[in-house]
Amino acid sequence: MLSLRGLTKRYGVQTAVDHLSLEVPAGQIVGLLGPNGAGKTTTLRMVTGLLKPDEGTALIAGRDITLEPVEAKRALGFVPDSGAVYESLTGMEYLLMVASLYGIEESAAVERVARFIEFFELGMDTLERKLLGAYSKGMRRKVVITAALLHQPKVVFLDEPLDGLDANAAVGFKALLETLAREGKTIVYSSHILDVVERVCHRVAIIHQGRLLVDGAPENLIREHAAASLEQLFTRLTGAYDHEQRAESFARSLRS
Ligand code: ATP
Repeated sequence: MLSLRGLTKRYGVQTAVDHLSLEVPAGQIVGLLGPNGAGKTTTLRMVTGLLKPDEGTALIAGRDITLEPVEAKRALGFVPDSGAVYESLTGMEYLLMVASLYGIEESAAVERVARFIEFFELGMDTLERKLLGAYSKGMRRKVVITAALLHQPKVVFLDEPLDGLDANAAVGFKALLETLAREGKTIVYSSHILDVVERVCHRVAIIHQGRLLVDGAPENLIREHAAASLEQLFTRLTGAYDHEQRAESFARSLRS
């Protein structure tokens, strides 16, 4: 359902993403992990058609994002970490605009939006009357997630999707992801919250300096590397130093 083939992006002399390949079948939730600057956002921007790769390509439900961008984009939904929206539109105006771009009829769009809004407990009054510029971070996040899922994409890319969601909304959203995966959707979940990734994702891919380090089911990777948790595996593969000792010597240097 999702195929990354040798994806590469260079910024000057720096290679941000280095020949990244990954095959993800329908119904799988894959966690995309990596330390700051590893190349996760650059990867997500390439596979969603926002950034042109220097080499390689991505196939979304069999459609090449570089050669067939419109067909590929029809099959994908993207929740970016920035969550930028048109601040001078109401939530409803924004979502109906997104729906019309996907060719969804207005009556069907209103009905779908109403279902999402009920699920996220946002309130139709807020959606219809308040401008997005006056929404809280969490409220805005709910609108951005709705916008990404409205056209029922086959492949969904999520960059820190829980950022700003309250505990109730986060629990509901995680359950929704599991339901969507059971229905056959492919989900790529990029996050730094490793315990959530360990619980939600069927599989994790850890990238470092643009390269794929490991890829597999979290429980298998943890066992194979004799780690206690995904967090320990992650720091071992990408950090390689003693965090407690480092914090202690840092605090000591501040005191002296
Ligand atoms: P984070 O977890 O901090 O969000 P990330 O894994 O998403 O990090 P990217 O944003 O993909 O990392 O960045 C990967 C590398 O590419 C970094 O070294 C970054 O400085 C570089 N980079 C990203 N965008 C640009 C740009 N527009 N111009 C130059 N370098 C860039």
